[in-house]
Amino acid sequence: MISVEDALSQILEHVRPLDPERVPILEAPGRVLVEEIVSDIEIPPFDNSAMDGYAVRSADVAAATPQVPVRLDVVGSVAAGYVAGGRVRPGTAVRIMTGAPLPEGADAVVPYEDTSDFDRPKEDRLEHPASEVEVRQPVRPRDHLRPAGEDIRRGERVLSPGRVLRPQEIGVLASLGHAMVLVHRRPRVAILATGDELLEIHEPLAPGKIRNSNEYTNAALVRRTGGVPLRLGIARDAREDLVQKIRAGLDQGADLFLTSGGVSVGDYDVVKDVLGSEGRMQFWQVNMKPGKPLAFGLLPGGVPLIGLPGNPVSAMVSFEQFARPAILKMLGHTDLVKPTVRAVVDEDVENSGRRGFVRVIVTRREDGYHARTTGEQGSGVLTSMSKANGLAIVPEGTYQVAAGTELVVQMLDWPEGTCA
Ligand code: AMP
Ligand code: MG
Repeated sequence: MISVEDALSQILEHVRPLDPERVPILEAPGRVLVEEIVSDIEIPPFDNSAMDGYAVRSADVAAATPQVPVRLDVVGSVAAGYVAGGRVRPGTAVRIMTGAPLPEGADAVVPYEDTSDFDRPKEDRLEHPASEVEVRQPVRPRDHLRPAGEDIRRGERVLSPGRVLRPQEIGVLASLGHAMVLVHRRPRVAILATGDELLEIHEPLAPGKIRNSNEYTNAALVRRTGGVPLRLGIARDAREDLVQKIRAGLDQGADLFLTSGGVSVGDYDVVKDVLGSEGRMQFWQVNMKPGKPLAFGLLPGGVPLIGLPGNPVSAMVSFEQFARPAILKMLGHTDLVKPTVRAVVDEDVENSGRRGFVRVIVTRREDGYHARTTGEQGSGVLTSMSKANGLAIVPEGTYQVAAGTELVVQMLDWPEGTCA
């Protein structure tokens, strides 16, 4: 048997980040940047007001107090998106809205709240703009301003290669005028289910048959991880069918193959026979449960194939451990590990002695994270994954975990009860 870590590192050795492509920025969230983004402008591009109020010369209002306000002549008004016509000369002010450029001559903004305008309803202010305003608080130079370049300076390296693009980075790209961005291509992941027992989802159940769920779970996992699923359908447990479907996947330009089933020691486990002759394959017994059998190798042309076990839970757990990191690496990510928390198990947990991935529900309590199992842990019980938000990891060589023990839990989703 090989360890989970050994299996993963052998897989990752044969997987490379894919070549770059230029995509519209709205297709880039979750993708990894390939280019350096250097700003050729300042953001904001001009000094502008952070408040609705009056643009003033701070020296004019240095002595203002609520008891002894300073009166200024209002010589104009400027809204966001416009430029003030006049200059602010001594003894004058320009009404200014948030985001509007600071008029020449002014060096600060007095918020409405600190002026006589505050006493007037908004409608009244709009209908009868005051020709004078009383300022009731002093301001210092640059008060209530957003100076040019405060956010981004001209020539600044804003985003570097390797950066995972989130909505905030998409916004930064937009503010710099980038409609397109260079990111790693998404892997096309060919998904192939194997087994004579499998029916398509629209087919009625028949004796001895089950529906093909793995193809859909795998396609959903691939999509969630950032890959593009290429569904090749069901290959029967017959050599020709499997060979032909794999060739079809190669013809469609698959970057990675994910098969399910046929990699254990049964009489009809043809994936093993076929892959053994079609490419350079290794068949591992990984020291984990669920998910002991795993195949990995390179098809003709060097396309990697991960042969997941057939049992739906084993397939999913193995996907998380092996296929997810491979897809993330192809996308250019360097952080390939699932987020984990430490949680106290609230019940005794049995383990096989191999590394156990126990389906649990993690909840946050006042004293930290707690985990309880989802019940029946059979590797065919897919609802155990559906109920779970985490996989509690039981170390190799452990057969019993007593209630109250702390385990590392790989989170499938974020734990319940994390609000306040
Ligand atoms: P195998 O490794 O091919 O013997 O498959 C192990 C178990 O997983 C069998 O009980 C299969 O019926 C089940 N299985 C295999 N492939 C699928 C699939 N695509 N969807 C649901 N169950 C599957
Ligand atoms: Mg099978």
